Amino acid sequence: MTTDIAIARSVALRPIARVADALGIPDDAVEPYGRFKAKIALDWLEAHGRREGAQRGRLVLVTAINPTPAGEGKTTTSVGLADALNLTGRKTVLALREPSLGPCFGTKGGATGGGRAQVAPMEDINLHFTGDFHAITAAHNLLAAMIDNHIHWGNALQIDVRRVVWRRVLDMNDRALRDIVQSIGGVANGYPRESGFDITVASEVMAILCLSENLADMERRLGDIVVAYTRDRSPITARDLKADGAMAVLLAEAIKPNLVQTLEGNPAFLHGGPFANIAHGCNSVIATRAARALGDYVVTEAGFGADLGAEKFFDIKCRQAGLSPDAVVIVATVRALKMNGGVAKADLGAEDVEAVRRGAVNLVRHIENIRQFGVPAVVAINHFHTDSEAEIAVVHEAASAHGARAILCRHWAEGGAGATKLADAVAELCDTHAANFAPLYGDELSLFDKIDTVARHIYRAEHAVAEPSVLAQLKRWEDAGYGHLPVCLAKTQYSFSSDPALLGAPTGHIVPVREVRLAAGAGFVVAICGEIMTMPGLPRVPAAEAIRLDADGLIEGLF
Ligand code: ADP
Ligand code: MG
Repeated sequence: MTTDIAIARSVALRPIARVADALGIPDDAVEPYGRFKAKIALDWLEAHGRREGAQRGRLVLVTAINPTPAGEGKTTTSVGLADALNLTGRKTVLALREPSLGPCFGTKGGATGGGRAQVAPMEDINLHFTGDFHAITAAHNLLAAMIDNHIHWGNALQIDVRRVVWRRVLDMNDRALRDIVQSIGGVANGYPRESGFDITVASEVMAILCLSENLADMERRLGDIVVAYTRDRSPITARDLKADGAMAVLLAEAIKPNLVQTLEGNPAFLHGGPFANIAHGCNSVIATRAARALGDYVVTEAGFGADLGAEKFFDIKCRQAGLSPDAVVIVATVRALKMNGGVAKADLGAEDVEAVRRGAVNLVRHIENIRQFGVPAVVAINHFHTDSEAEIAVVHEAASAHGARAILCRHWAEGGAGATKLADAVAELCDTHAANFAPLYGDELSLFDKIDTVARHIYRAEHAVAEPSVLAQLKRWEDAGYGHLPVCLAKTQYSFSSDPALLGAPTGHIVPVREVRLAAGAGFVVAICGEIMTMPGLPRVPAAEAIRLDADGLIEGLF
């Protein structure tokens, strides 16, 4: 079988200046990073947005059912749909996330789509790209260094060393760093304390970059980050430490959106990349707005299943940025429905119509959930060559019985030409203005009630529970003026519940809130539910073992 990387290399890409030109971006607003990547100048984008009206392009969200460990093809389908919309004469721009380095070396592989539906150059995008994640890592860790430095030189702000909540980050799956003791080795190294590392995509700085409207908004949000508390529990911010200016300087290039292209030469912004299980899971607001000002249609993706990515897209990104999505595509695969119907991962290749029927309850629940936000949805069946006619028929039945059209798509094998029916259906949903978007809950609910609302209405749990210490923490944040913020639940991506083994459409479960973290700069409160890690580990046999350079210096083993 031809690998994604081999397909990507077989295509001659257009110079990025030509892609920008076709979009109407003038030469002097294009800042090339090599021949096939560019950053677009913010001042031009802002001026253009004002002229065109930043809300011009119709906004389409691609989300999915609960996935198998490999993912269900949301990125692949986003790319295929955008190519198909362009192929059918609709000017369309992609707005996707940049991949994280860590998972490339674990089990997931790259995140640039697959088959004939990819964004390119895939090696660059999956590895260092334009350096945005490195900049975010540096800005995050600068703040960490300034906290410990402040304490070392006398601690004028009277930070309680036991209540430093800002950890460090690294863009690598490294379980050894989850919990650490730092500053050991003597007086010169500061005051020993416990801390730890998260993966860069879980950093609040990542979320801030993705939710900021412009440079000034980013700097303000960086200043608002709460890093520690004093003995009497007053918050200490990055602004108190005078770290916000230098952090913004480190991020000044990273905040400009990156332009690349699909294998069919269509424009794609890839910018920002928080995970959807441990963070808010959406690309940057700046890139989404740029895409809307430049195209008639914008296709964007939120991470993992709709219980995580879509809910956060609506309740965090759209709420904060005032975006109003026009249509949703729910990606379903026969193999993931089989898995939700109880089939083991190793047996997904064999036909099992009854398992698809059992697993279809998962799709149905996602269809019902999206409806709660008032946005019309269509189901894209991402076709795998192992799917049988009878299995596909069951997915059609299940979707139409619940008021949603399902469309079989072959973009992975055929590129945009394999998804023109999906493009027509999506354009029709957009053009009939059927959407009447509203977030799930209002700003005025208490923080715990917001968590409980997501648990009941989206996860369909009995309710959420939390220890008295967690409830007391939420109460203190409400008293300190953070009660209006939305919540960002960190939860396993495999199940509606917080138990990764509970597939299908479970009910009656309880959502345990283990820990809460305030992200005052990003503008949400993170609730960690169940055993979810903010620093992943590598599997027993990591993909890294097969990644190498061949005799010609080309990368092998990245997929
Ligand atoms: P997601 O965005 O949902 O995580 P991706 O689009 O990254 O999923 O796809 C996950 C993996 O599955 C990729 O390696 C991709 O090449 C592969 N894939 C996606 N769709 C298909 C398909 N229809 N047939 C075969 N492989 C596919
Ligand atoms: Mg993806």
